Amino acid sequence: MAEKPQPESFQLDHTKVKAPYVRFIDTEHGPNGDVISNYDLRLVQPNANAIPTGGLHTIEHMLAVLMRERITGYIDCSPFGCRTGFHLLTWGEHSTEEVAKALKESLEFIANEATWDDVPATTIESCGNYRDHSLFTAKQWSRDILAEGISSDPFVRKTV
Ligand SMILES: [Zn+2]
Repeated sequence: MAEKPQPESFQLDHTKVKAPYVRFIDTEHGPNGDVISNYDLRLVQPNANAIPTGGLHTIEHMLAVLMRERITGYIDCSPFGCRTGFHLLTWGEHSTEEVAKALKESLEFIANEATWDDVPATTIESCGNYRDHSLFTAKQWSRDILAEGISSDPFVRKTV
């Protein structure tokens, strides 16, 4: 039997990282030479914190717009099941500094400027669990994450 595939993220020693950070995971190359990059956007320290689902859900909806505006070739930004951060997928390659700066700006908007009108897709038609949003929680956690600073390196603090 073929060996089971091993997702890279399952090899990471989650006790060694220093969140909040952006980590480059890997690139995938398509048959036509296209490159897709995968990043670990870790907002809170694994096994020490987890963003409550309502706040994480609202951050997810907002990053779908805010990161798309800031990262060329944005494909998707989806939350981890452990609620400590997001996977970011992009066409092409970006430095972790560039991604960390885009994430910082996005969280600054959520923390300091966003009103309920800025949260996209919060209706029964446009969301799979529209009752489970909290802009208040999203703002408080964004503020706390920004106070720690976002590092462009997962193991050594290099805040952007
Ligand atoms: Zn939703």
